[in-house]
Amino acid sequence: MKQNIKAFLDQVRKRNGHEPEFLQAVEEVAETVIPYIVKHDIYYGKNILLRMVEPERLISFRVSWVDDRGEIQVNRGYRVQMNSAIGPYKGGLRFHPTVNASILKFLAFEQVFKNSLTTLPMGGGKGGSDFDPKGKSDNEIMRFCHAFMSELFRYIGPNTDVPAGDIGVGTREIGFLFGMYKKLRNEFTGVLTGKGMSWGGSLIRPEATGYGNVYFAQKMLETKNDSIEGKNVIISGSGNVAQYAAEKVLQLGGKVLTLSDSSGYIVDEDGIDTDKLAFVMELKNVKRGRISEYVESYPNAKFVEGKTPWGEKCDVALPCATQNELQEDDAKTLLKNGCICVSEGANMPSTKAAIAAFHKAKILFAPGKASNAGGVATSGLEMTQNSLRFKWSREEVDSKLKEIMSDIHKSCTEYGKDDDGYVDYVKGANIAGFVKVADAMLAQGIV
Ligand code: NDP
Repeated sequence: MKQNIKAFLDQVRKRNGHEPEFLQAVEEVAETVIPYIVKHDIYYGKNILLRMVEPERLISFRVSWVDDRGEIQVNRGYRVQMNSAIGPYKGGLRFHPTVNASILKFLAFEQVFKNSLTTLPMGGGKGGSDFDPKGKSDNEIMRFCHAFMSELFRYIGPNTDVPAGDIGVGTREIGFLFGMYKKLRNEFTGVLTGKGMSWGGSLIRPEATGYGNVYFAQKMLETKNDSIEGKNVIISGSGNVAQYAAEKVLQLGGKVLTLSDSSGYIVDEDGIDTDKLAFVMELKNVKRGRISEYVESYPNAKFVEGKTPWGEKCDVALPCATQNELQEDDAKTLLKNGCICVSEGANMPSTKAAIAAFHKAKILFAPGKASNAGGVATSGLEMTQNSLRFKWSREEVDSKLKEIMSDIHKSCTEYGKDDDGYVDYVKGANIAGFVKVADAMLAQGIV
């Protein structure tokens, strides 16, 4: 078995040696999926995983735009169209200075498995730019988004590729992107998800990733006859996913102790209650401020500069900021402090060594491709509503989201249960996600 995995990874490394994040994502999948392939004749010897790691298409383009001082800026735009076996490419756009082909390929690869797990007909893709939205005026954001879409529009469409938001891309950016797409194509279609409520957006889409993550954590805790109620929860990030994860924890009776951004984290021993969370939402979404400003309004809280929150004592940890933000030492500290459940809101926030530590300790651990799939699932529901020219109520969407998270949990359990009864959610998510895509690829032949 080890030989099979090594031979496969050698081939992938040869072609993608300069892409560490992509290799990390592929290694994690290969180690769990190859043993399954070897035991199942229908998949064996067909190079399915080798086909899956090669994007169907990778588009890279120049984005030129003019800033408020009248100076010409140049950024790089991308779209990775990874796999369309089970539906149109679907996945977010990320605007962040760290964006490069490796990061987008890892995200697109993860997205293929995640979208498959949702049970909805969506292929996998991801895109974005190394543009940094921080400190930019609304006009600069608009000019950049318009310039970005003036090239991307050639490659996307409601039946081809349907992008959404991700880090640095929220409702404001989706609005500007949609406006330019509509102008260039002269058609009003569901080409992007995460749209505003008055022009095709779905209720609950803004909340979906964070809510879904907590629904998943709740499902895991239920397997131990436990729940979020009364739990001390630490959360990283203070963006879209973190904010709504915090909201759902509060609704389910948990206590939220931390939030963070790339400058550091705040810890509030009294708990970040609904009023304080409303303050954070205003601070981050409207004023576009920094999380450190929290302590100016709530002096009992503490700001810890340049650090992640994993040293704080907790029962449940929800990493909701970015990739590789939770390392092996952090995992060991969490375990030492009694953490019993880690549910990833971000994509690949835990390193391989951190995950190994969680597995060794046999605590509940959910990989982002399962636990944060609520966002894309609700994007899928937005696509359905756009096609039907119909709008479901908040309760209807929320109950569908809950059902999807519960189904994902079931699939992970089905494929991830070890002989001793421990559920390896990484293995479960990878195999369940793989099977549906692989079956479609086999049926469609070598294309
Ligand atoms: P936002 O842009 O709304 O928020 C991102 C948060 O993470 C901010 O607090 C940001 O801080 C912090 N952050 C970003 N980069 C870093 C970094 N390098 N180091 C430390 N902190 C960082 O993004 P989202 O909340 O939408 O996304 C968060 C994560 O969730 C990402 O991994 C994304 O891929 C994943 N995800 C998002 C989905 C969605 O529906 N939005 C769906 C599924 C997954 P700062 O402001 O300082 O940059």
